[in-house]
Amino acid sequence: MSTRGGDPVQSRATEVLQDVFGFDGFRTDQEQIIERLLSGRDALVLMPTGGGKSLCYQIPALLGNGITVVVSPLIALMQDQVEALTQAGVSAAALNSSMDPQQKKVVWNRLRSGQLKLLYVAPERLLLDGFLDELDHFQPCLFAIDEAHCISQWGHDFRPEYQRLGILRSRFPDVPIVALTATADVPTRCDILKGLGLSDDDLFISSFDRPNIRYRVVPKDQPRRQLLGMIRERHAGEAGIVYCSSKKKVDDTAEWLRGEGVRAVPYHAGMSSQQRALNQQLFVREEGIVVVATIAFGMGIDKPNVRFVAHLDMPASPQHYSQESGRAGRDGLPAEAWLCYGWSDVVLAQRRLADSDLNMTQRRIRHHQIDAMLGYCESASCRRSTLLGFFGEEKTVCSDEPGLCDNCAKPPEVMDGSVLAQKALSAVVRTGQRFGKAHVIDVLRGVANQKVTRFGHDRLSVYGIGTELEGQAWHSIFRQLASRGMIQIDLEGHGGISVTASSKALLRGEEQFGFRQDVIAKKATRSRKKKKLDGLDAVQSSLFEQLRQYRLEISRQLEVPPYTIFHDSTLVEMSQLRPQTLNQLSSISGVGQKKLEKWGNGFLEVITSHGSSGVTTS
Ligand code: ADP
Repeated sequence: MSTRGGDPVQSRATEVLQDVFGFDGFRTDQEQIIERLLSGRDALVLMPTGGGKSLCYQIPALLGNGITVVVSPLIALMQDQVEALTQAGVSAAALNSSMDPQQKKVVWNRLRSGQLKLLYVAPERLLLDGFLDELDHFQPCLFAIDEAHCISQWGHDFRPEYQRLGILRSRFPDVPIVALTATADVPTRCDILKGLGLSDDDLFISSFDRPNIRYRVVPKDQPRRQLLGMIRERHAGEAGIVYCSSKKKVDDTAEWLRGEGVRAVPYHAGMSSQQRALNQQLFVREEGIVVVATIAFGMGIDKPNVRFVAHLDMPASPQHYSQESGRAGRDGLPAEAWLCYGWSDVVLAQRRLADSDLNMTQRRIRHHQIDAMLGYCESASCRRSTLLGFFGEEKTVCSDEPGLCDNCAKPPEVMDGSVLAQKALSAVVRTGQRFGKAHVIDVLRGVANQKVTRFGHDRLSVYGIGTELEGQAWHSIFRQLASRGMIQIDLEGHGGISVTASSKALLRGEEQFGFRQDVIAKKATRSRKKKKLDGLDAVQSSLFEQLRQYRLEISRQLEVPPYTIFHDSTLVEMSQLRPQTLNQLSSISGVGQKKLEKWGNGFLEVITSHGSSGVTTS
């Protein structure tokens, strides 16, 4: 282990990081945040999902004198954290409405005896009559407000009780507050600072870049088959989340995937809470489960080894997408954010907006968000840079790590599509700016079907001027025209398209149109060949599988999620380094003292017996 010299606060924090959590070093900002809290000052921590927010308050909690109170919006989230801390030998507990009086009494007793370092509570409980007075007796030394964006009406997770948390500042003026969130937009940030009585100086904004996530966007062809192909080719037997826009689609997709041999379960608000809890537990506790869900699923799920997040429909905004896709690969190992989208998504999003009772300002924001999402999908440049750009972060990220997003791994061919775009726009104008995309494409391609002839569109000058392209390519041109604001969808009628003022320069030949050529994803293959975890050869992969199996056995016995025993990244390192002694095992990232004592020998046994079983590399 590295030396622990220097500043006493720093070295104590490093000691806890190594001994309790088994990690070698801090990630960006963690150390400064911890130091700041230990010196009695506040902090607002904006870090992406998986960035490592929890340690920012867990380490000060272990070093502080008194109790750290963590305000958390969801019971599942609290339980998960308490379980993980308990496995690491930290004294933590939760108080929430799912507990019976006896269980609550046990927690109060632990509090009174001064045993607890961290107490997780929901905001409602914290603000109950008398609770804060009680708390006074136990010397709170830090308040951590998790998922702090719930305080803001801007966000989609607004919780009115969060707005009352401002009382903590006046009630405990000397106790530092740390607020944490993965939502980075400016209005939310301002609401948190104001609501909790923090200042601009308290801000810590980390980069929202997630270098281990590979972003891929595919145009919709046969979405379910495309999804299955992605799972079979790159994620067979791995855990993932598939987001769909409706409950029915969730049910149908989960059932279909099960029929194809994928261990998939549904999750949406229309199911009984019991069934939902069961499916969630299965996802967290077992390996390789795919949850098909509406966006009701996600917050509070800290499972670190989710290997892919797929969207079968276009997400509502870049903020949503960043948060939802960010649930992949919290453990830092390679993960995939896969998005399958088509024209129907744009029409549906616009229609929902038209049917909503939002005011004008909210409508403008939503329009802007839909356009931004469409722009992301149709972008020919780096996906990560595009996504970060929405949060004001300028970065050309994939350039130094080629192969991360689809566009950087295989730059799409961009050709001068000005003439094609002019043809498309002319056809929209000549047919009267009231027909849908499919009809206009039929006219362009000279398809003399009933509708085309009934309206006399086979006699127009634009009829048959687009036979050089297949229908799919024309669909792509229309999506790209929409993403650049050159056409719009009429939602009062039947989704007819019309041209906008921005298309004028192009129509007059004063502007060029770079057309990105789409590659329709190959049809799902039946191959069940599983891609090895990056960096592991065949022998290491086989050891990794055995370690994973052993971890699952322990976690089933203890009825806890496997990742609270060890993370995948820890098992990967064990497979690569093959430690032979407890001392060697202890130097692996994620192996803290308590875990070494409890499970060290068992894992060593798996490693040594694997070596002696003469595994072949074929
Ligand atoms: P967040 O709450 O920001 O989404 P977590 O606190 O759950 O993220 O951390 C994500 C993962 O990163 C966890 O598995 C955690 O154990 C791990 N982690 C956090 N800090 C470190 C570190 N300094 N070194 C190694 N792993 C870390």
